[in-house]
Amino acid sequence: MSSYDYDLFVIGAGSGGVRASRFAAGYGARVAIAEDRYLGGTCVNVGCVPKKLFVYGAHFSEDFGDARAYGWNVGASSFDWPTLRDNKTREIERLNGIYRDLLDGAGVTLFESTATLLDAHTLEVDGREVSAEYILIATGSWPHVPEFPGRELVITSNEAFYLEEFPERVVVVGGGYIAVEFAGIFSGLGAHTTQLYRGPLFLRGFDDSIRRFVVDELREKGIDLRFDARVRRVEKSAAALNVVLEDGSEIATDLVLYATGRRPHVEGLGLERAGVALTDNGAVAVDDRFRTNVANIYAIGDVIDRMQLTPVAIAEGMCIAENLFNGGDRGLDYTNVPTAVFCQPNIGTVGLTEQEALTAGHDIAIYESTFKPMKHTLTGRVERTLMKLVVDNATDRVLGAHMVGPDAGEITQGLGVALTAGATKAQFDATIGIHPTAAEEFVTMRQTRRTSEPNR
Ligand code: NDP
Repeated sequence: MSSYDYDLFVIGAGSGGVRASRFAAGYGARVAIAEDRYLGGTCVNVGCVPKKLFVYGAHFSEDFGDARAYGWNVGASSFDWPTLRDNKTREIERLNGIYRDLLDGAGVTLFESTATLLDAHTLEVDGREVSAEYILIATGSWPHVPEFPGRELVITSNEAFYLEEFPERVVVVGGGYIAVEFAGIFSGLGAHTTQLYRGPLFLRGFDDSIRRFVVDELREKGIDLRFDARVRRVEKSAAALNVVLEDGSEIATDLVLYATGRRPHVEGLGLERAGVALTDNGAVAVDDRFRTNVANIYAIGDVIDRMQLTPVAIAEGMCIAENLFNGGDRGLDYTNVPTAVFCQPNIGTVGLTEQEALTAGHDIAIYESTFKPMKHTLTGRVERTLMKLVVDNATDRVLGAHMVGPDAGEITQGLGVALTAGATKAQFDATIGIHPTAAEEFVTMRQTRRTSEPNR
């Protein structure tokens, strides 16, 4: 046992920090964790969990209409924002309690206080100094809003979860995960929603077929999606906020939500006192075992700016616990990390996009299918599903699977197992479908839409 107060001190009780501390304690380490905001971090409090509850809430607006085609007489429906907001908050508080119990049950000491580094082994927390053999920085990320006149008038996703009143009109700025998800939430809950993206096509990094397909789907849902739209300033008048674009046009609205990326949360940690180096974009620099340049200090999750995804932070946390206290020597394989965007309909994706496969030099075949979901054969709703496989011609391995459609997140999880196992297209084809489902299309696509030559 070391002469330090703790074997491991974790800063930040989000998904990654809690997982690392619980497992480290399980391996016999003396562990403490500090959290100065909320137990469970972004995901539980102002991210994945409340967002998904809002997505469920938003979908009812369609469900009432669709029910009629199935013979249900649905009376007049109306939406009450305080009910959804406050029910959501109660559930979050329940989860906060579960996180507290998990830490307690694992024997981890919790400081509900800010922790700052004084040197490589010493921290100040709760008005006193503590020492630790290893320190893990797991402080996550924070929404970034660029500089422009009127910046103080806009909100971020943090505030969107606790709005006093539900707005009639919303402008969402950004074209990534959060912007697309919140545009869908606000629109589904009944706000007139405009989404502004600065470039010609949003969702950069996703497969191009998906990006183009989602444009039509979101517009069909009533979102006023505008590309090449850059905000010059935001002004406040008595009745509204006014978003002035670079082209001189103006949009009157009640709420402006900026979802323009999240930056690593490193301020006030005292990293400079311990000599911890940052990358050019302000993330904590780590090697493939999550070691910083200071031998006993580690970092995981959004603060290292690799993949800002909860399950990734959790997997990184498991590596830390295992490597430090159970004789492990593991890094994380970031290929084939499945992910979903909970817009409506959902996007699910795993593995390489068509463009990435070509850039990596693969000679590929593309299988692509679009169809109307069976449910809507009766409702008449104009909503389409897209499925796409990217296959390596040389090995027959499925390099990427992409989908837009109901439950794409659920379906893609299973595809993630297949791709991680190295499944070939022949094995997809040999798999019996479940009928009638949308997912069976992934094992019945036989027609190559086109074959692409690699970019050489
Ligand atoms: P993203 O990085 O996904 O998207 C940021 C968006 O903002 C991009 O469209 C970007 O455009 C745009 N942008 C950046 N700077 C500016 C600017 N100065 N002016 C106008 N637009 C700008 O960030 P998010 O905030 O959406 O989400 C952060 C991360 O959180 C995600 O990347 C994801 O990893 C994670 N997340 C995951 C979710 C999930 O798993 N379902 C849900 C929500 C978040 P451009 O592309 O041109 O750079």
